[in-house]
Amino acid sequence: MYAIIGTWKMSLQGLTEARDMLACGRNAADAVERAIMCVEDNPAYVSVGYGALPARDGRVLLDAGWMDGQTLRVGGVMAAENLRNPIRAARLLCGRETNCLLAGRGAEQFAVSAGLPLRDMRTQGSQARWREAMQALADEEPLTAYRGHDTVCVIGLDAQGRMVAGTSTSGLFLKEPGRVGDSPLVGSGFYCDARYGGAAATGLGEDIMRGCLSYEAVSLMRRGASAQEACEEALRGLSDTHRRLGEDAGSVSLIALSAQGGFGAATTLPLFPFAVGSAQGAYLCAARTTPQGLAIGPAAPEELDGVD
Ligand code: ASP
Repeated sequence: MYAIIGTWKMSLQGLTEARDMLACGRNAADAVERAIMCVEDNPAYVSVGYGALPARDGRVLLDAGWMDGQTLRVGGVMAAENLRNPIRAARLLCGRETNCLLAGRGAEQFAVSAGLPLRDMRTQGSQARWREAMQALADEEPLTAYRGHDTVCVIGLDAQGRMVAGTSTSGLFLKEPGRVGDSPLVGSGFYCDARYGGAAATGLGEDIMRGCLSYEAVSLMRRGASAQEACEEALRGLSDTHRRLGEDAGSVSLIALSAQGGFGAATTLPLFPFAVGSAQGAYLCAARTTPQGLAIGPAAPEELDGVD
């Protein structure tokens, strides 16, 4: 049995390839890396990898995280510039006993020493988006540009029971240079323990960190919750915190995959698309917030027009 899950519509194409790899007996690590690289390499996806959303100074500064569910080792890069595939660096760093999280220039130097390709990650599109947003700021429009963000998170389980979680993002549009979100932070942006399952989050990193959301979801699976129950309960905990403090619900979504191949998703958004892959194929699903509660189910691409 094998299974794979990824955040947002943008993960579908890579997830489809990754699912085929799992179906051919490839390992979870190769499949998760493939799924995420597919998003990183495509400039049409504006919040991940090549052509992603710049920081306030116009640089594209990327975060990526990786966790091996067998060894519980993690790797990650933060605010990294010029890395063609941040997820490859995160995966390689995960093999190390020390120095497994590298920021800024250290991440770039590591990529060079590991023989990973560098690339100017800015595109004409990313620079145009940046100039337009900076103009809006100069015109004293409020920084609603922070709303532009999304992370590709993928969790995979292979036929040998190995599990891996990976994340990759440019974080918040117009973030302060050096800002690090939840995505490369183990426990917040992702967590994976092959005995129980994996979880990963997308949304405002500053909120996700407050609940160590991904660890919380895996810990609920350890205590017997299904992947779906774990997502709902972990997110409920964070929403309760917001309510108690009189704050807005925030924008946070969570996915999970249990060691038995069960899928889970929850969101504070009206609609959160995600993709799943298994022996049944790879397809899009959506989590919807309805007056009756959370509704999860398959979704046709045309139902998700205009949604990431
Ligand atoms: N969690 C990411 C961050 O805060 C952004 C996102 O997933 O939307 O950097």
